[in-house]
Amino acid sequence: MTILGNFIAGQPQASHSGRTAEVFDPASGEVTRQVALSSADETRDAIRVADEAFPGWAKMSPLKRSRILFKFKALVEEHADEIARLISSEHGKVFSDAKGELTRGLEVVEFACGIPHLQKGEHSLNVGTGVDSFSLMQPLGVCAGISPFNFPAMVPMWMFPVALACGNTFVMKPSEKDPSTPMRLAELLKQAGLPDGVFNVVNGDKESVDVLLTDERVQAVSFVGSTPIAEYIYATASAHGKRVQALGGAKNHMVVMPDADLDQAVDALMGAAYGSAGERCMAISVAVPVGEETAERLRAKLVERLQTLSVGPGIKDGPDHDMGPLVTRVHLDKVVGYIQAGVDEGAELVVDGREATIDNAGNGFFVGGSLFDHVTPGMRIHREEIFGPVLAIARVDSFEDALAMVNDHEYGNGTAIFTRDGAAARQYCERIQVGMVGVNVPIPVPMAFHSFGGWKRSLFGPLHMHGPDGVRFYTRMKTITQRWPSEVRDSGGHFTMPTL
Ligand code: NAD
Repeated sequence: MTILGNFIAGQPQASHSGRTAEVFDPASGEVTRQVALSSADETRDAIRVADEAFPGWAKMSPLKRSRILFKFKALVEEHADEIARLISSEHGKVFSDAKGELTRGLEVVEFACGIPHLQKGEHSLNVGTGVDSFSLMQPLGVCAGISPFNFPAMVPMWMFPVALACGNTFVMKPSEKDPSTPMRLAELLKQAGLPDGVFNVVNGDKESVDVLLTDERVQAVSFVGSTPIAEYIYATASAHGKRVQALGGAKNHMVVMPDADLDQAVDALMGAAYGSAGERCMAISVAVPVGEETAERLRAKLVERLQTLSVGPGIKDGPDHDMGPLVTRVHLDKVVGYIQAGVDEGAELVVDGREATIDNAGNGFFVGGSLFDHVTPGMRIHREEIFGPVLAIARVDSFEDALAMVNDHEYGNGTAIFTRDGAAARQYCERIQVGMVGVNVPIPVPMAFHSFGGWKRSLFGPLHMHGPDGVRFYTRMKTITQRWPSEVRDSGGHFTMPTL
């Protein structure tokens, strides 16, 4: 069986750690390959290689760096079907969704191609008599990325295109559950002309991650994953003097006002709750209808739509299913455990995904879509992130109650409001304690030229990913104040604070 190693210094390299993890095809339940869990020394070696590659890469003109990214984009597009199949074969999501994730990742590459403009800095003439001031946005050095299983292409592509464009070198530590896609992207970066050592992939687990968080040569750490690990990453890497952006888990609510177009809201909820089997940090997992009548109508429409939710393998001939399997048996058991917890806590299980009919289920990690009603804030299925195809209806009496329910939650990644009332939407946007808000848009993922990030325990660190914040995160500003020698000679010494 293949053992996936590392990609260091422009070459695939076998790991000699002696430790591996199994990678599954979630649709069949079979182990398809092993992935190396690299040793601390192997991780240090990748950092050394990236550190040595830094001076040359940082000195290259931004225009040339951008041209390599343009070629990379063309290569990814050329191989899009192959990469989408790879994503689906290890993650389980349906083929069209895998292609969608790749497109969203490519949009960040397109943004990063604009680096000659983005990294220009500022300039002021005559800040004092004969004195000019300007800023440089310089790269940091070696940056590290640690990514989750749910977007094996898109999340690494939130990080490395911007980091590389700014002149940094990179060590990527992908999720050990679906590691093949970042390895393929590393090959395509090399093919696009990226110098060896500028982008490296180290497969591994906590042992590798801990080296990335503590090695003094690493300047910045970007992390996306669950909240407890995000908090650990933030605390450890910051204590070692690095800048950190650590994105964590989520529980996203969609408020449905009495005046909303309910057919539109239900369409939106079906995709946002059950797409990718709910394994999205921006999935809607709680619908919050305002008023009993809205709740009854919403519930009836959702129940009807759930009868036709098609579940099956992510790759098949003909049109896709609506959703595929969960990523592993362990995760499936966790999601099924939450369904039972909801029943035990007294929520009403209106549609039970455990009983769904599934095409060609075999030994795959499948569960159908579930719907709970009468979920209240104290219940575990409201407090905790399930990360599966389970939608909760949490009824409220008023707009103010909806606002309070969302604001009281520990997470603040995404939220949406469906309404025809502009004033209600405007108030929601202003008062909600959440980083990304949709108005009649269920999954308000910012485009690549804006920045992505949540509030509260969904993000540790001040800067969001990609867009303007991404450029700020991966550059250090230096401000230069200059006056030329003839004026220095003429002016003599100054012993007071200079003013205009
Ligand atoms: P995870 O936290 O288990 O793993 C993420 C990464 O951390 C992996 O690379 C893993 O190897 C590493 N890791 C795991 N345990 C570690 C430890 N003890 N020490 C050091 N490193 C460790 O997350 P996951 O299950 O792969 O992904 C799902 C989670 O990611 C969900 O909570 C989801 O909400 C979140 N997520 C958040 C966003 C966002 O933008 N906020 C986006 C995607 C996913």
